[in-house]
Amino acid sequence: MIDEREQLILAPYAMFSRDSAGRLHSEPPHPYRGPFQRDRDRILHSSAYRRLSGKMQVFTGEMGDYHRTRLTHTQEVATVARTVARVLRLNEDLVEALALMHDIGHPPYGHAGEDALDECAKNIGGFSHNRFALTIVQELEIRYNGFSGLNLTKEVLAGQTSRIDKSKAGLHRLLEVQLVDAADSATYDAHDTDDAIKLNLVTLGEMESVELIARCLKIVRSAHANLTPGLLRKATVHRLIGMQVNDLVLNNMREMELRQFGSAHEAMSSDFVIGPSREIAELKGELEKFLYQRVYRHPRLVEVRQAAQARLKAMYERYCENPDLIPVHYQPRLRQVGVEQMAVEYLAGMTDHFCEETYQRLFLQPT
Ligand code: MG
Repeated sequence: MIDEREQLILAPYAMFSRDSAGRLHSEPPHPYRGPFQRDRDRILHSSAYRRLSGKMQVFTGEMGDYHRTRLTHTQEVATVARTVARVLRLNEDLVEALALMHDIGHPPYGHAGEDALDECAKNIGGFSHNRFALTIVQELEIRYNGFSGLNLTKEVLAGQTSRIDKSKAGLHRLLEVQLVDAADSATYDAHDTDDAIKLNLVTLGEMESVELIARCLKIVRSAHANLTPGLLRKATVHRLIGMQVNDLVLNNMREMELRQFGSAHEAMSSDFVIGPSREIAELKGELEKFLYQRVYRHPRLVEVRQAAQARLKAMYERYCENPDLIPVHYQPRLRQVGVEQMAVEYLAGMTDHFCEETYQRLFLQPT
C-alpha cells in the first residue's frame, strides 16, 4: 500500500520506503504504515521527545511563556520541512521523522547546557547533543523486550549520525536529511527574530538595519497601512519565514530539474546540496550575525546562561563524588558506562525545570 502511494507521489530522487536498508532488529512490515512513518511515531511517543517541552530553545522560562521551547521549535522545523518536501516530492514521512528527532538530544539550557556538559565530559570524549540523540534512540529509550532503543531504520540513524560532524558527512546525505538542516535554519532565524522583539531584547526598528528584515517590512508596509506594533512584528516574521521557504522551494526545484537525478543514491552522491539561494544565504548570514551579537549575547541571556552552567557543573561534580545520588533505576546503566558518562547522561536528560529543582534539592535544602 505504502509502495504504490510512494510510486505515485515521490520523485525518482526521493528515498523510497521499499529501498530502506531496514532495522538492526528486523521486523515484519506493518500492514498500512511505512517504515519511516513508524520511525516518526516511535520518536513522537518517546519520553525524550516529550521532555523537549521543558527545554529552552534560546530563551528561558523566567522570560514568560510566549517564546519557543525546544518542542515548538521542533514542530516548526517539521512543518517547514514537510511543506518543502511535498513540493519537491521528497519522502515526507522520512523528513518528519528526521525533523522530530533532530534536537531530541538537547540537554537543559540549550547550547549553554551543552557547552557545560561538554566541559564536564572532556575526559570521556565530550558531549554533543547530536551524538546524544543517537544514544537516546539506540540505547536509552526502552520500548521492546529483548533489546534497548527504538530500533529505527538505518536511514534515520544515518541522517542523525551525519549531523554529528557535518564536515565528515560530506556529500553522502539523503536529500531528506539535507532538507531538515535547511528547514532548521529557516525556522530559527524567523522565530528567534520574533521572540527577541517580543521579549524586548531588540526593537523591530533596530532590526530594520538588517537587509532581510528591511525587505520583509517593506512588503508588509506596502500591503497594510497602520498595523499595530504587534501585528507588524507578526506579519514581518510571517514574511521572513515565507520568503525563506519560497526561496528553498524555487532555488532547489530549479536545480533538481536541471540535474534530473534518477535515484536517491545518485542525488546523494552528487555535489548538489539542498539550501537557500546564494542571495538569501548571504542575507541570512547578516541576520544571524545580528542575532548573535544583539540577542544571543544579550546581558539578560548571558546571566541566566552562566548561572545555569555553574549549576550543571556543580551537579556533575556532586554526582561523580556520590554516584548513589543518581536514581536507583539508572544504576545498571551506571555500572555499564561509568559514573562520569552516567552523570552526563542523567543531567542531559533533564528538563530546565527539573534540573533547577534537583539542584535545589542537592545544594540548598538542609539534609
Ligand atoms: Mg534545531
